[in-house]
Amino acid sequence: METTQFIWFDGKMVPWDEARVHVLCHALHYGSAVFEGMRAYSCSDGSSSVFRLHDHCTRLLNSGKILRLNIPWTAERIAEACLETLKANKLREGYVRPLSFVGCGEMGVYPGDNPVNTIIAVWPWGAYLGAEALEKGIRVKTSSFARMHVNTLMTKAKASGNYINSILAKVEAKEDGYDEAVMLDTAGFVSEASGENIFIVREGVIKTTPWTSILGGITRDSVIKVARDLGYMVEEQQFTRDEFYIADEAFFSGTAAELTPIRELDRRVIGAGKAGPVTKRLQQEFFRIAKGDNPRYASWLSRYSL
Ligand SMILES: *Cc1c(COP(=O)(O)O)cnc(C)c1O
Repeated sequence: METTQFIWFDGKMVPWDEARVHVLCHALHYGSAVFEGMRAYSCSDGSSSVFRLHDHCTRLLNSGKILRLNIPWTAERIAEACLETLKANKLREGYVRPLSFVGCGEMGVYPGDNPVNTIIAVWPWGAYLGAEALEKGIRVKTSSFARMHVNTLMTKAKASGNYINSILAKVEAKEDGYDEAVMLDTAGFVSEASGENIFIVREGVIKTTPWTSILGGITRDSVIKVARDLGYMVEEQQFTRDEFYIADEAFFSGTAAELTPIRELDRRVIGAGKAGPVTKRLQQEFFRIAKGDNPRYASWLSRYSL
């Protein structure tokens, strides 16, 4: 990965190489951490902006609440710190990763009085699934691993421990020659990918998994709003893998993946086997908004200048 100069660590800017924790940190052993992923984009007027910064920071605190992890910062302060970290690193465009984790102290599962530490790192990060993926689409497979049940792990917390489920699915998919995994929920309906939400388009209607048993993506929310504003019909409704097979178009949404078209699922070509017209339209609009070229969504952008 490409590194930068400074990491924000519990309120202080520390050099990248010095942002360390002890090997007996609780989160390293038990996954007791929550995180966020945001993107900063260069805008056409020369400034930069973080996409939906405040929504991401609010979700970080909500993830902490779900896990009963007391993050000693407000969403507003985390948001400010994200902008400070981008500026300290002179980063016009890139990825922003806040993480709050149970630190050192007791080694038992019960986190007790262990401190909750928070870091914010930023670094340059291009298209998560590859630049070509954004154009041509990716090949995915239904995972043999089900997405965790809502009462097993809390799907609405962006929690580090939850990512074991994602890693199992992602590794399986990659080793089987696919780009990403589609996970079904424990009832057998399409749920989400290892770190992306899922949309399909069939007969002009856009469909996405209901919020109930997924990580409620901020990109997902943005896509729903933008699609409706563009006049598309969007349904948040359960669907099955065979409905996915016969969709005209499909795509993933996520901060890292942005809007990535899906061209194949389980060796069934989706639609024309390339990014479809609705996907392209939404992708184009998404980038236009993120880069500050659509004033209608200006409130989604937190601007900064170097
Ligand atoms: C982060 C994440 C997403 C996408 O959320 P965004 O807010 O759009 O980045 C989707 N699914 C899972 C499991 C995630 O962790």
